Parts: sequence; structure tokens; C-alpha cells
Amino acid sequence: MPGRTASHPARNPRAAKGYNPLVVTPMTRFPVLLVHGGAWDIPADLLDAHEQGVFNSLQAGWNILEKGGSSLDAVQAAVTVLEDHPAFDAGRGSFLTRDGRVQLDALIMDGATLRAGGVACVERLRNPIQAARLVLDESPHVYFVGEGAEEFAQTHGVPLIDNAELVLDRERRRLAEAQARETSGAPDRTFSGHSEHEPPGGHDTVGAVAIDLHGGLAAATSTGGTLNKDPGRVGDSSLIGCGCYADNASAAVSLTGWGEPIMKLVLGKWATDRVLGGSSPEQVAPDAIAYLFRRLGGHGGIILLAPDGRYGLAHNTPRMAWGVHTTDGPRTGTKL
Ligand code: ASP
Repeated sequence: MPGRTASHPARNPRAAKGYNPLVVTPMTRFPVLLVHGGAWDIPADLLDAHEQGVFNSLQAGWNILEKGGSSLDAVQAAVTVLEDHPAFDAGRGSFLTRDGRVQLDALIMDGATLRAGGVACVERLRNPIQAARLVLDESPHVYFVGEGAEEFAQTHGVPLIDNAELVLDRERRRLAEAQARETSGAPDRTFSGHSEHEPPGGHDTVGAVAIDLHGGLAAATSTGGTLNKDPGRVGDSSLIGCGCYADNASAAVSLTGWGEPIMKLVLGKWATDRVLGGSSPEQVAPDAIAYLFRRLGGHGGIILLAPDGRYGLAHNTPRMAWGVHTTDGPRTGTKL
């Protein structure tokens, strides 16, 4: 029951026509794009590659936004660049499962309509975010997994590839090292801030959130999951409200980090609900990461964007690859 809301019908013609003003409430006329390329102890020799990757991703998304394109197209384009970049744990170059395969998860969500599309455990798609977008656009369903997701994508024109095309030697070595550490009981050294229960490896997932010239929010997250994961494991990244969420009434969010705690806290929705409740994204972003650690000892990072263009970023890992593009231009970094 809309009744009296933040947006009075007299000031909001769409509300007068029967739209729920909490669903479509454009509040900005300038685009903003935020991206991340994972939060962990990014090794020194990979810092430049991460920063270059997030910069390229910003360029791709901004090209769409500045021409008046949709935030949905922008986050898809930004994440596609990061999936194609081998430095990140998304698309080619992802971490490997315990048995040496790449299994990918992705979600994309449109804040204006709450339409969402997700895929998980796909092995034969170069760009899972593209398949997720097809689910959003072409299916009455929200989520497809495994072979069903691959067949859905193929039916809609996406070529299937051999899983080996996604596997890098670098990742074969990383997996072998992780499994050797596991066998010897030695501590994981790829992420110095990890808790006792945290799985080995970094958090190199990618994501983007954007607001377009029409005031529409969108979010997208894509991942290869955690290093040495059991085949079939799905993390937070592609689960709606966990690693990704967008609603024009509240905010758009993408998370990275140890997926199991993020899922248990439904942390993406936790954060967007706080923005809806009146808190600033600048404050909610660090609060969300503090909550993740306080409740479950989790580590990770967040990008969060409100309908008025304000945003927040935070991480409790040694580093996080991040990028922000406003009308003032692009900014990138590997630590906040
Ligand atoms: N959140 C991802 C997962 O648990 C990993 C990451 O962020 O890198 O699958």
C-alpha cells in the first residue's frame, strides 16, 4: 500500500499513474560507476595488473553511461572486461576447484524493475555475466545452474567453450601449492589477514555498481569462487542479496570476500536496507565489513551506491582493487 511515501504523487507523476514510488524514484541526473577486482593481500607483482584491469573496466562502463546508456548495460560491460582480464578470479584465470576445473558464478540485477539473472557452476562459458544478463532479459526465472545454465545460454546464441580455455598454468600452480599446504597443515600465506576457519587463497572476485542518467541503479558480480573449492560449491557472489543486489528504492551493492559468512548474513541486502533506512553509504560500507568480521570473523570488501549518487567502499583485507568514475573522471587504487 503506497499511501504517504517519501515521494508525493504531486511531485512524482509516475506515482500518480499508479507506480509504486518506492520502486522508481529517479533522484540523480549524473552517472556514477564503481568497480572492484577483489579484496585480499594482492601480491606486489600483480598490483599493476589489478589497477590496469579496474581502469579498463571503468572505461568500458563509463562509455555507456556518458552516452545516456543504462546502468545495467554499464555494469555488464565493466564486469565483462574484468572477466576477460586474466589477473582476476572471474572468467579465464579463475581459481580452480579441488579437481582442477574452473566453475563460475555470476549475477546481474536491475534496480528499476528488480529483474535479476544469475548462473552458477558454469564451466563452458567465457563470460558468465553475459549468460546472467540473458537470464534477466529472456527468462521468467532468476537463476540457472550447471549444464542447464550452459544450455540456456547456448540456446540464446552464446558459444560453449572447453573448460581448459579458462584454466591458466598460474592457477594450476596455485592449486598445487594450496593442496600441498593443506596436506602439510602449513598456514595459508596468500591472504595474511585470514581467520583460522577461512579457506586458503585470495578473494579476487569482480563486481560493478552504477547509476545512469535516468536515475536507474544496477549491480553485477562475477567469480570463480574460492581456491580449491569442492566442485559444485556456490559462494555468495551470484546469490541475490548476498554478493550482489540493486534496488532503486535503496542502493546497489557488490561484495567480495569469504563467501560463506557473507551468505549467512545476507550482507548485500543488509547494507542496502541500511541505506533505505537513512544511513549514508559512506558509513554503511565500513559498517557492513565490520559486521561481517564481528559476527563471523569474515574478511572482504564492498562497493555501495545510493540513488542520489553517494557511495561507499570498504575492505578489511590488506588490499582491494577498486575504481570509481564520476563526472570528475576515473580514480583507481589497490587499497583504500
Ligand atoms: N566471494 C567469492 C566466493 O566466496 C570469492 C571472492 O570474493 O573472491 O565465491
